[in-house]
Amino acid sequence: MKMPLATLVALLAGGEALAQRNAADVGARLLRDPAVQAALAAAKQNEPQVLEEQIRICEIAAPPFKEEKRALAMKAVFERLGLENVRIDEIGNVLGERPGKSERPHFVMAAHLDTVFPEGTDVRVKREGAVFKGPGIGDDCRGLAVLIGVIRALSDARVVTEGSLTFVANVGEEGLGDLRGVKQLFDKTLKGRIDRFVSVDGLGYGITDVGVGSYRYRVTFKGPGGHSYGAFGMANPIHALGRALAAISDLEVPQQPKTTFNVGRIGGGTSVNSIPFEAWAEVDMRSHDKEALEAVDKKFHEAVDQALARENARSGGRGALTVAKDRVGTRPPGRTPRESEIVQAAVSVTRALGLEVSLDPGSTDSNVPMWLGVPAVTIDGGGSGGGAHSLGESFDSTDSWKGTQRALLLAVALTQP
Ligand SMILES: [Zn+2]
Repeated sequence: MKMPLATLVALLAGGEALAQRNAADVGARLLRDPAVQAALAAAKQNEPQVLEEQIRICEIAAPPFKEEKRALAMKAVFERLGLENVRIDEIGNVLGERPGKSERPHFVMAAHLDTVFPEGTDVRVKREGAVFKGPGIGDDCRGLAVLIGVIRALSDARVVTEGSLTFVANVGEEGLGDLRGVKQLFDKTLKGRIDRFVSVDGLGYGITDVGVGSYRYRVTFKGPGGHSYGAFGMANPIHALGRALAAISDLEVPQQPKTTFNVGRIGGGTSVNSIPFEAWAEVDMRSHDKEALEAVDKKFHEAVDQALARENARSGGRGALTVAKDRVGTRPPGRTPRESEIVQAAVSVTRALGLEVSLDPGSTDSNVPMWLGVPAVTIDGGGSGGGAHSLGESFDSTDSWKGTQRALLLAVALTQP
């Protein structure tokens, strides 16, 4: 078949493909689609109920490693909204599918279940007009609510997507949760089957395209310990730790790519007149650049090893110390290129809705796919607020429907081939 080039180009441009040159205007194109228009209208109209759901879900506590109750509530919501194959995987992630015309591309939209708040925290939400206050109300009950809003609006408007969608309420985003929910998703539950990934996490309308990685350690010096006077001269774990901390404090790191280190906690010892048997510190190092992160990690190891050697040398081997450097957290660093389809599409749908575009680095569930090279971004869930990770956390729901609309538009865009 022979076809004039101009016609061919016109056909391709008019098609639904999300080729890179089209990703830049996918937002505007989708806004002309009647089914998408209907879904956006539904998203706006449903927002008051979505906010009710946000509060209800948030009043179910989800401390680190104890997300089951909230997971069951999300599972019930997924079922009620008609998702298929709703299930909870081995690690506790809740999954629900919304098949499209074809299986691929397979797009996953996730929000995290867990909070930083320990068991027993009062998680009741107080409402003052458009402002809601309560632990986790923004981070990440807003993300969970956006998933609910997107699923409902797509269903109300009977949108049929090209590829398929899986919605996930995942465990283990915060702190020592160490991204275990999303790691499980990519390593096992949906291994090899995720073409594009978006996490909804945070308030406002920002887009996270750079994943700041972190390595975290608990360093522990140990020795026999003894009397401060009687056993004087014996190696001292706190002295060794002090040497290590002095060296770590002096580490040199690049400003670009921004690379940081911090000793956040220390401890050890039993009394002022004892040579302690133990001293420990918790260390966090971050960068979005793998080489820079590896480099500061190497210097950290050297600083600790040298501190051990010096303290043991000074004591002449009396009560020789050992040191353990236990990795207590690994957030892999990564970056989704600005020119990639997924970033272009996220920017495009944001612009199409008249929202301001801001691309920022962050440390989120998207770190995992970014590390693996799977196209991923994290988007904020709309509204505004502050105080994340504090008991005074707040969420201002003014115009928050725009966040639901933006996520919906992106979901439709990213199911296009
Ligand atoms: Zn979060």
